[in-house]
Amino acid sequence: MKINKDYLNLQESYLFADIAARVRKHKEEHLDADIISLGIGDVTKPLSKPVIDALNLAVADMADAKTFKGYAPDRGYEFLRSKIIENDYKKRGIDLDIDEIFVSDGAKSDCGNIQEIFDKDNVVAVPDPVYPVYADTNIMAGRKLVYLPCLKENGFVPEIPKEKVDIIYLCFPNNPTGMVITIDKLQKFVDYAIKNDAVIIYDAAYEAYITDVTIPHSIYECEGAKRVAIELHSFSKNAGFTGLRLGYSVVPKELKCDGVSLNSLWLRRHSTKYNGAPYIVQRAGEAVYSLEGIKETKRQVSEYMENAKAIYEGLSKMGYEVYGGKNAPYIWLKTPDKMSGWDFFDLLLTKAQVVGTPGEGFGKCGAGFFRLTAFASKENTEKALDRISKL
Ligand SMILES: *Cc1c(COP(=O)(O)O)cnc(C)c1O
Repeated sequence: MKINKDYLNLQESYLFADIAARVRKHKEEHLDADIISLGIGDVTKPLSKPVIDALNLAVADMADAKTFKGYAPDRGYEFLRSKIIENDYKKRGIDLDIDEIFVSDGAKSDCGNIQEIFDKDNVVAVPDPVYPVYADTNIMAGRKLVYLPCLKENGFVPEIPKEKVDIIYLCFPNNPTGMVITIDKLQKFVDYAIKNDAVIIYDAAYEAYITDVTIPHSIYECEGAKRVAIELHSFSKNAGFTGLRLGYSVVPKELKCDGVSLNSLWLRRHSTKYNGAPYIVQRAGEAVYSLEGIKETKRQVSEYMENAKAIYEGLSKMGYEVYGGKNAPYIWLKTPDKMSGWDFFDLLLTKAQVVGTPGEGFGKCGAGFFRLTAFASKENTEKALDRISKL
């Protein structure tokens, strides 16, 4: 027996496990510790009423032989895919075919699985800092990675690769930096991909947080993007489905590689290895697009964004150098006094009992930066800021 040795090339421990260990140690040493987490990127608000109502109705469907549902169609139910096409694309002037949408159990799975349809010899470009899934799943598959630095100097938006790469991962609004990309800059990536026979995997998990009207919500707003881009969406960060699990990928039929349609390859992968998101969860997803659902989603997102604004403005006033937070639930701050992200982590944990995420955890270029999230309650966000102001 032999293991997949590429797994040994992964970094030793997962970022959040490291953080959890430090927090656990602090709690053991300070039994009365009142720790506030502005760390992990998980939502905290309960599911909205229209979503809960849809779940209940769908559960009732499952209890009756006349409405019971077994396996879902391979690409997901049409009732959900038609809503996706209508609301996320048609309203923005983007025409997609219903068979270009693949419903899944979330964007993390899609981010991790999509690489399977590409050859091992492809060169993969990922931003640095980066959501670890893109890099790690390609390391597990034994691919060569190229890092695209996201620095203060380029507004934390990478330059197009200088060398020939085959697959490019982009995520905007960005986790961890909270920064966005302009349509002109995104078009440059699309043009690069067309010219270099590359594919872009565009993670739009935070699309709902865009407030600036000039910022693109979809890569398909760019000229020619359907020929080179796959887009990934999640119901987690907009509608709070982190525990329910639902997402979708878009693989346009025009997107071809070696003369083969990637849509057909992805369908093959999907139908061979996956039996679909649960019926009741797809019904809950449908409810996100109802009038009430849209209203509730907007309300939840705007409440998180009030926290983001409070953190951004609060830290700015305290003299911190802050980025992001305007079109995303993440604030990216420069650590004071050239501290490392981990040293700043320890300072915040021990002196303010606030947990954030060291930039180093997202890549080399994250060194000396720190991520705070807007997902805590308003009360805890304010309390955390108050404590940080007293450091
Ligand atoms: C949270 C997150 C996702 C994962 O979302 P799920 O749908 O819950 O799997 C994907 N991409 C980024 C960048 C994220 O931050």
